[in-house]
Amino acid sequence: MSSDCCSVAEGGERGIDHCPRCGEKGHSVSLATVGAMAKTDVEAVKLSAQDYRVCRNLICPAVYFSPGITIDKIGLRVPANFKEKNYEGPICYCFDHTVASIRAEIKSSGRSTVQAMITSQINAGHCACEVKNPAGTCCLGDAIRTVNSISLQLTNGLG
Ligand SMILES: [Zn+2]
Repeated sequence: MSSDCCSVAEGGERGIDHCPRCGEKGHSVSLATVGAMAKTDVEAVKLSAQDYRVCRNLICPAVYFSPGITIDKIGLRVPANFKEKNYEGPICYCFDHTVASIRAEIKSSGRSTVQAMITSQINAGHCACEVKNPAGTCCLGDAIRTVNSISLQLTNGLG
């Protein structure tokens, strides 16, 4: 397991770090992530490319790109939380906390323990974000954003 799976990826040279489909800047993602996420029918040549980046633009079909190569979300084994509208699936892919489960907990208890649970699992060295999370990075930031947006929805009577 990579010890730096929860570190923030560094930006690279300009030009190759922008999505060829939508132009949004992507951050580096390891080939291990791309290989773990891609369906088996994604061509082998795509899985030997280097310098992959991930596009987090919700409305863009491309998920991973490298010079001359893109892998769209339909080529992934799992739904990417950052590519789906009205998403209810996993936010924390390592420990299977979903949007639905986070909302259910907040509705029933008024608060979320997901941040504390994920943090304790990270501290215990159990996270495998590099090969389980399509973003290739720790889910904690996404989990906190999800908790905040659900809390806001419930406060406003929209949940
Ligand atoms: Zn894009």
